[in-house]
Amino acid sequence: MSNISNQSNGFAKQQTTKIHAKDFDTPTMMLTYSFRLNNPRPWKKIPNCSVMTNAYDILQNGRLENRIKTKGIHSELELNGEICAMDSGGFQFISRGEGEKIDPLKVIELQNQSDVDIAVCLDYPILQDFSQNKIEKLTQQSLENIKLSNQHIKNGIEVMPVLHGRTTDEIRSFQNQVKKIGDFKIWGIGGLVPQMKQSSTSHKRYFSIIDRVIEARKGLNKIDDNILLHIFGVGSPLAGLLFLLSGADSIESISWIMNAKYFLVYQDKIGARKVSNKTTLCTTSVKWDEYNCTCPICDNLDLSVIEEKMKASGNIGFQNRAMHNAYVYQKILVEAKEAINENRLVELCKEKLGHHRFFKGILNYTLKKLENCL
Ligand SMILES: [Zn+2]
Repeated sequence: MSNISNQSNGFAKQQTTKIHAKDFDTPTMMLTYSFRLNNPRPWKKIPNCSVMTNAYDILQNGRLENRIKTKGIHSELELNGEICAMDSGGFQFISRGEGEKIDPLKVIELQNQSDVDIAVCLDYPILQDFSQNKIEKLTQQSLENIKLSNQHIKNGIEVMPVLHGRTTDEIRSFQNQVKKIGDFKIWGIGGLVPQMKQSSTSHKRYFSIIDRVIEARKGLNKIDDNILLHIFGVGSPLAGLLFLLSGADSIESISWIMNAKYFLVYQDKIGARKVSNKTTLCTTSVKWDEYNCTCPICDNLDLSVIEEKMKASGNIGFQNRAMHNAYVYQKILVEAKEAINENRLVELCKEKLGHHRFFKGILNYTLKKLENCL
């Protein structure tokens, strides 16, 4: 076990940053949102949400695209002061083999006209099986796109460059090149998701991700330690806590909605658990004896009623699970904020992850790592 004191926040920090003339309170959990008819909008019931939308998603639907360009994204999503970011969708383009086809100026135009708060630069994820040649070409294109966004994003919208790299050296080198392009208030690290998907049970993959997050944070602190660091696709909010310790300010996950689709509900300190045998995902069932939730769906109801609501099929059940999951994610972030205020994020992480079958080892790795660089 590491010697790092419980009375420590690692690299985590609580702050308020002016973003697009709004107050952006961090740390935050951004809920990834895609425009589907039945997807619920948790920010209408849960305070302090922030939202990550996706240009690829919007550009697939001409009517939606026009509406968003005319009315703005905040009105379309019925946001009320919440920070809304727009990812380029580079990952989706690449996955469909359309990487070279997309015009970065089209993404920038959409981001400008929809009046998002944070415009993510069009980036190309580096997948493990890419040749060195392809990697260099995509890296150059990503850097060119950062220059384009820096030039063309208007009206005080913040530009978010996204770092890519399979190793800490690659992260450092990418970061040095981005530094030359401009000053940015918020930086992202991308490309962590596909690696997590390849082997969801490997600790070593997480070790490498933690290493890269710490590397990026150390690099940013050399410029200004108020610069925000956003992590794309953290999967579980429990993993997110470790990224906060490592220096992330904003973390983002689509799993609140993906889990809901697969009949999984999130339990604090435990993770995603299945609520019905309808899921094809092999995972253990909800621990009802440890179930304790005050979300807008579960609040004050008997466990048997909650179970029925969560098990329900069709859109109703899906929406119940998604709202519940979003609430639990936000609640974990609220607790993290409180802990940071009291300078005891390490203690909170030990409490939540110290007995977790999977995350225990990654927590220990993170704490050892922090001990060596704080
Ligand atoms: Zn609930």
